[in-house]
Amino acid sequence: MRAVRYQGAHTLTVDEASVPTLGPGQVLIRVAFAGMCGTDVHIYEGLHPRARPGVILGHEISGEVVAVENRELPIPVGTHVVVEPLLACGRCVACREGNYHLCREHGLLGIDANGGFAEFVAVSSERIHPVPAGVDLTEAALVEPLAVAIHAVRRGSVAVGDHVLVFGAGPIGLLTALAARSAGAALVVVSEVVPFRLSLARKLGFLVVDAAREGAAEVIRDLTGGLGADVVFDAAAAPATATQWVPVTKPSGTIVALGIFTRPAPVDLGQVTRHELRILGTRDYTFADFRRALELLESKRIDVRELITEVTDLGEAERTILRIKAGKDVMKVLLAPAGGVR
Ligand SMILES: [Zn+2]
Ligand SMILES: [Zn+2]
Repeated sequence: MRAVRYQGAHTLTVDEASVPTLGPGQVLIRVAFAGMCGTDVHIYEGLHPRARPGVILGHEISGEVVAVENRELPIPVGTHVVVEPLLACGRCVACREGNYHLCREHGLLGIDANGGFAEFVAVSSERIHPVPAGVDLTEAALVEPLAVAIHAVRRGSVAVGDHVLVFGAGPIGLLTALAARSAGAALVVVSEVVPFRLSLARKLGFLVVDAAREGAAEVIRDLTGGLGADVVFDAAAAPATATQWVPVTKPSGTIVALGIFTRPAPVDLGQVTRHELRILGTRDYTFADFRRALELLESKRIDVRELITEVTDLGEAERTILRIKAGKDVMKVLLAPAGGVR
């Protein structure tokens, strides 16, 4: 089968790999679509501490079950599925408390094991979810990042009528804005610098802050009678956005750190105390978030199709990464290893 492999910083290969053999409890999935993510860009740059040369990338996967390790497994051959790509030990305290997304040995397909930028991928039957009829496998490839957004919105306890601000209008920022709106937020504002991302945010019906020209604090205060947002999501994760957390948040409001900061960020903790702000982290998702993501797509309460800017071949993986890095007009690019089986 063809596969995209990371071979060290700034090097990807697209060549033949053997079809994975199934371990206990695993199923073989013929990949229909696999989404390209900021994490893949990070790996390509050689900045991911766990990615080893030779690994097949890709963790946002939809496809069809084509083989099962044993017939006792609950998912029959032919089922359309999405993959929950977390790897967990099952033994640590977090795992045993049901928080396997916080596992001590937390891993991800496409980093710690071969992923979905290939014609086939082997996955534990415990980490796949059937795709409901009526949800296309292209949309289904966005379930993984949508589950990240849903988890964040649940962590932030967005409530009906809330005013919400999202920093960053990449895929995770926009999906979080969509999830917050479907949770009942009355106002969702998205702050971003890249013009293409701003235009897509507008197209999805959000008010925007063009952060290259205006300050998020002024805009959100204007829109909320001087109060600030009830819940703020930071999907940008830059020190410059962290300095804005306090000024954009309403007293007793909540700030959800969603993107991954790679450096310590300056936050005025004196003001956090004075205004009784809550700062929360959010990471990945749980089984329930995946189920919710699929249900929201099925019921059309969330439509992610506008985010898919391109569907292309495995051979375009590196060029796609370079275009994402260069800030070209891309949002979510899907690779279709088998030409897009539906
Ligand atoms: Zn990702
Ligand atoms: Zn564990």
